[in-house]
Amino acid sequence: MNPSRKTSKNTGRKSARGRLSAVLLTLAAVLCAIALFGACNEPSLPSPSTPVPVYDLDLSYDGGRNALLDGELLYTNDTGEELTSLAFHLYANAFSEAASAPPCLESERADIYYNGDSFGNIELSDIKIDRKTADFELNADKTLLTVRSAVAPGGTVTVSWSAEITLPECNARFGVTQSGVNFTGFYPVLCMYDDGEWRTEGYSPVGDPFFSEISSFHVTLAAPTALVPATSGEVTSSESDGGVTVTEITAENVRDFALFLSRDFGTEKTTANVCGSVTDVTYFYTDDADPSATAALAAEAIEFFSSAFGAYPYHSFTLVQAHVGAGGMEYGALAAVDPSVKDEREHALTVVHETAHQWWFGIVGSDQINSPWLDEGLTEFSAAYFFLRRGEEQIYTDSVASARSYYSVYSRLPEDVGFDGRMDRPLSSYLTAGEYVAVAYCKGLLLFDTLLSLAGEEKLTAALADYYAANAFSVADGHALAAAFSRAGFDAAPIISSFVRDTAVM
Ligand SMILES: [Zn+2]
Repeated sequence: MNPSRKTSKNTGRKSARGRLSAVLLTLAAVLCAIALFGACNEPSLPSPSTPVPVYDLDLSYDGGRNALLDGELLYTNDTGEELTSLAFHLYANAFSEAASAPPCLESERADIYYNGDSFGNIELSDIKIDRKTADFELNADKTLLTVRSAVAPGGTVTVSWSAEITLPECNARFGVTQSGVNFTGFYPVLCMYDDGEWRTEGYSPVGDPFFSEISSFHVTLAAPTALVPATSGEVTSSESDGGVTVTEITAENVRDFALFLSRDFGTEKTTANVCGSVTDVTYFYTDDADPSATAALAAEAIEFFSSAFGAYPYHSFTLVQAHVGAGGMEYGALAAVDPSVKDEREHALTVVHETAHQWWFGIVGSDQINSPWLDEGLTEFSAAYFFLRRGEEQIYTDSVASARSYYSVYSRLPEDVGFDGRMDRPLSSYLTAGEYVAVAYCKGLLLFDTLLSLAGEEKLTAALADYYAANAFSVADGHALAAAFSRAGFDAAPIISSFVRDTAVM
């Protein structure tokens, strides 16, 4: 996510002299980058011997607030343990009237529920295991589905369901928004299996309460032809008949699947040269004065992060303008930027931030519920570092200075307000969105800025490229990050630990 912290400075239009010096700076930055980065590592795909979960989703949307979803998950038990059940998040039910936690903070309600209160949900029926009626259980607010089934290590099982989906009217991750329709978290999402149990933490109004395995998706969408789809993965076919278009979509080895629809999408296509091969970049926009510049920026970020940290592994990247209830939001092979982000610099930072999430969240996963700093801090740093290496040092300096001031204000709030500087703690322990931004984003960025100063750029980029290669298509934690620094010849463990445990003097 990007919380859309406003910056006061605007890059504005450059004079001819300004442009010449910008070109020279960029040239110098590119030469320096060539000397620094040799990465371009192709991340190793998941092993075919332990296939990732494969979802087959058949979504039929009426163009209003209703959809039908027939789905099937093919799961191979790669936990090494005998399983007795499979657990699934039903995030759509976090938007229901019965939800135990609201999907947004009270202070955000007016912006998000643009038409007043509105509820949505997913109602499952016909739940089967290997084509036989399943023994299952729903928790009290129906945000968690547990399906009983014995699955031996290495064994496979098929879970299938039918569902009726009602979309809320809201500018959030799931719903009919003021500019389109957001289908994210609309399918039963297999929980992460971690340390001998399914991780079942539910939705939270603060942060990105998601932690999922790399999976593959085959999706068939039937929707009114007037709606343009922007999706994770690639459209493999599209046929229209009688005002309905059926679109086939494939997204392989992604962290999750997202689909955005709008009648008003303009499209801007470009390509990124990822270490010698071509990635298609498509930008779907509703309100952007210079969409080709935005698409070009996303493509440039993909090229930069590929050479700095390791190759972007997908054939496509989708950038979409959509009301998501924050500055932006990241999904598998897709990033969303909210049309409310108007400031030129903030918009550029948001586009690059959400693109960087493909590396930190998408390909290298992490526990976004208990250690949100690991993806958000590293993503904030990566975005600032992109501009530093692009010859726009001021943006890097301002990002660090702004993070420092923001953190310093929050960390000095009286104790009864409840500020806690520890970084490994659950989303449910954050009392305000500001506290979360201060700890996960600002302190996270300051940690990586400190590592850049102390380890030096060469060791830092070597460590991050190593961290990417070693944890691609899997999940990593702070220890894996410290280990990558150690292999790059820098002992980062004490620094990471003092930031995370809040013993560092900021
Ligand atoms: Zn983010």
